[in-house]
Amino acid sequence: MLLPSLLLALAVLGLALGLHRLAGARNFQLFGEIVSQVETNSPVVALTLDDGPTPEHTGRVLAILKEKGVKATFFLVGSDMEKNPDATRAIVEAGHEIGNHTYSHSDLTLASLSTIGTEIERTDAAIRAAGFEGDVLFRPPFGRKLFTLPWYVSKHDRPTIMWTLAPETDPATRTDADALVRLAVEPARRGSIILMHVMHDNREASRQALPRIIDALRAKGLEPVPVSHLLSAQTDEF
Ligand SMILES: [Zn+2]
Repeated sequence: MLLPSLLLALAVLGLALGLHRLAGARNFQLFGEIVSQVETNSPVVALTLDDGPTPEHTGRVLAILKEKGVKATFFLVGSDMEKNPDATRAIVEAGHEIGNHTYSHSDLTLASLSTIGTEIERTDAAIRAAGFEGDVLFRPPFGRKLFTLPWYVSKHDRPTIMWTLAPETDPATRTDADALVRLAVEPARRGSIILMHVMHDNREASRQALPRIIDALRAKGLEPVPVSHLLSAQTDEF
């Protein structure tokens, strides 16, 4: 019969679409703690810088943060850290926080537990080899996770760190530094987590926006801090 098979196909399609949306959800996952916004009485926000490091742009990013007196959380890729040990060490030595953003930056939505274990442990090893000593936070590549990744991360007592604001999301304004400043700062409030990418050649607008975002956050009374500081400023009452 045509109708039952059509209904079955629709059901499978609906399930696939649902799982696709679930995998990308910022506020929900099936296992363990997920953090996209922190409830806090402190006037702080977290600045998170994903991917890399790259030898071409790490120096400038560190110079901007140093000039502004800001410490950020860098979610770095294991294979990039191994390729660029000097850049990685420079980030650690400047006192920033290093987070785990997996070894190969692949979409791990449907990956096996053993693949996920390798992706995370190799990256932790690179982070420790660079001299970082604090707790290592975790953020999935593309923010995507479904069953195995949250399971593995929660079994190792780590929260999954997502974000509140991703000003670079819209390709139409991704190369417009003015727009990036506005999209990062106007909706920011206490406990927000801001996601930026500043490590690759095509992110010049993001690098230009970075010092302006810091200034504009401060003009609003919000101080950028690493994610771990935001988590320790968390209040219990919601
Ligand atoms: Zn990434």
